[in-house]
Amino acid sequence: MSLQKIFSCLCFLLMMNTIFSSTFVKAEENTYQSRKALYLKTAALTDIPWYYLAAIDQYERNIRFSRQDLPDPKNLQGLYIHPLEWSGPLNPNPHETDPMRIAFFSGIGKDGNGDGKADQENPEDALYTMGKYIHKFGTTKPFIKIALWNYYHKDKVIAIIMENAKLYQHFGKVELTDHSFPIPRRNRADFRSTWGDRRGWGGLRIHEGTDIFAFYGTPVLATSYGVVELIGWNKYGGWRIGIRDPKNIYHYYAHLNGYNKGIKKGSIVKPGQVIGYVGSSGYGPKGTQGKFPPHLHYGMYKYNGKTEFSFDPYPYLRAWRRQQ
Ligand SMILES: [Zn+2]
Repeated sequence: MSLQKIFSCLCFLLMMNTIFSSTFVKAEENTYQSRKALYLKTAALTDIPWYYLAAIDQYERNIRFSRQDLPDPKNLQGLYIHPLEWSGPLNPNPHETDPMRIAFFSGIGKDGNGDGKADQENPEDALYTMGKYIHKFGTTKPFIKIALWNYYHKDKVIAIIMENAKLYQHFGKVELTDHSFPIPRRNRADFRSTWGDRRGWGGLRIHEGTDIFAFYGTPVLATSYGVVELIGWNKYGGWRIGIRDPKNIYHYYAHLNGYNKGIKKGSIVKPGQVIGYVGSSGYGPKGTQGKFPPHLHYGMYKYNGKTEFSFDPYPYLRAWRRQQ
């Protein structure tokens, strides 16, 4: 093969690659836009603000992707309403779509798109059903919380959904998927894979994160969109901060020197925003520092509706650093 041929082959491959990846990005954008349209439509029909519907939908989509016992979402919406709940516990047909029979058996399934069927697999029907369920309790925040309590019976789930709702309302969109490396591009940041290692202080604990070595006072950036769920001192982590993103992922930053002004519990952050500064706090009573070299301990945890588990942030950190 001549050099020219090889060159044109390469050009062709590069071009195809660009076309494919831009098609993919477009499709993703469209998904988010279609979802938001679905939330707005359901909000108009049920009086439940769109960002609450979006938050519930997103919460359920997240847990379905992280659990073996739940099917992956098949369409635009992520809600999984159990067939018995949908059709009614005593309904002989768990896949009932007749709204009258569903109502007769006290199922919650409803027809949202007016085609005469209450179909669990139909995004409009599923979301409308959830909206109507909440509507029975009320349409404002305190009543929505009561409705969620009745549906989920878990404080943590309600807290996560409320945080999601706050993010969607604040940013006015559901596409909140950008990420940032936690240290600015110009700053030194050395890290290697240390997740699962044994730790030196406080008994037998495994290392649930990646240590990123940087100079004292280096800005620490939020890696995702999220809401500050926890802030303050802990004898292990020192000055630390925990932020929950819309994918149910909890980002934990520890051993800080201090926090950025204005960052407090409930604050909304976006990727790349300064949340604090690198330090060496921790491993003792409040204010202890200097027991180890300054670094950022960064951990990632995922809530699947039942438990919260740590996973290795290293591959993500590497990708985000490369993208900077
Ligand atoms: Zn660490």
